[in-house]
Formats: sequence, structure tokens, C-alpha cells
Amino acid sequence: MNYHKYHQVDVVNGEGTRCTLFVSGCEHQCKGCYNQSTWRVDSGHLFTHELEDQIIADLKDTRIKRRGLSLSGGDPLHPANVDTILKLVMRVRRECPDKDIWMWTGYKLEDLNPIQTEIVGLIDVLIDGKFEQDLYDANLIWRGSSNQIIHRFTRDHS
Ligand code: SF4
Repeated sequence: MNYHKYHQVDVVNGEGTRCTLFVSGCEHQCKGCYNQSTWRVDSGHLFTHELEDQIIADLKDTRIKRRGLSLSGGDPLHPANVDTILKLVMRVRRECPDKDIWMWTGYKLEDLNPIQTEIVGLIDVLIDGKFEQDLYDANLIWRGSSNQIIHRFTRDHS
């Protein structure tokens, strides 16, 4: 998997102070996409084990307390990304059980394949659906167009 940007401290992509990873690769080609440079799976930089370790360390940081991890892009559920993203969310669940995970995807929740569904079963909030320029509304929070849905899942934190 490749990624474009990693923000160690972020307050604009999800609730609270967070770590945010923007991955490479998106096949939705939404008209008006704000992030076209992320579409190619080979754009950006290689996501390394060192960066995965850094994300875990940042989530555990007690000086700047993070509420959780946000995964955006590009599309974290792109077929080229799902193996790495599954590993990452499993690790966050295992090593940082008190942190939440938010994810943005252009796929619809009801259309996900088995591995995408497995990933979504491990996260807390999914904002799904393509960006529809005609349904753009600047007043929306955490989403760009009104067709997109914010799904909040109840996870067993035990
Ligand atoms: S899903 Fe997001 S990144 Fe992909 S084309 Fe649509 S707006 Fe752009």
C-alpha cells in the first residue's frame, strides 16, 4: 500500500484530536474530487512497518492525547489497500483498545466484499459513498455531499 500524507496530530478529520492517514488509490473518480492526486495506487510513498509503528506510538502518546485514528485517502477500502489496512486496524484494536477508528470510503456499506466488511467490523465510524457534486453542502460535518452516510457502530470494547 502507498500513502500520501500522515498527520501525527489532526483536529479536522473526525472528532477530537487524532492521527490521520491519507492512503493512495481510489477507483471512484468522483466529479469534483478534492484529492485527485491520490487516485493512482502507485502515487505517494510506500507505507512501511516503521510508519505503522509510528502510528501506534502516536496513539499511545500521553503528552498529546489522541482520541483515535482516521483513515482517508484515496480510499482505504481500495482492493490494493485492504490487506494492509486490515493488519493496521487489527493492530490498533489489539494495542490501543481505548482509541476509536474513523474511515472514509467511496464504497457503500451494503456493497462491501468480505474483506472490506471484516475491516469495517473493526472500526467505529464509517462515512460511506461517493462524493456527489450536485449534493455538495458546505454545512455538512465530516462529509461533503448529502448522499454520504455517517455510520456509527457500537463495538464491544471489552
Ligand atoms: S471517493 Fe473520495 S478520493 Fe475517491 S474520487 Fe471520490 S472524492 Fe475522490
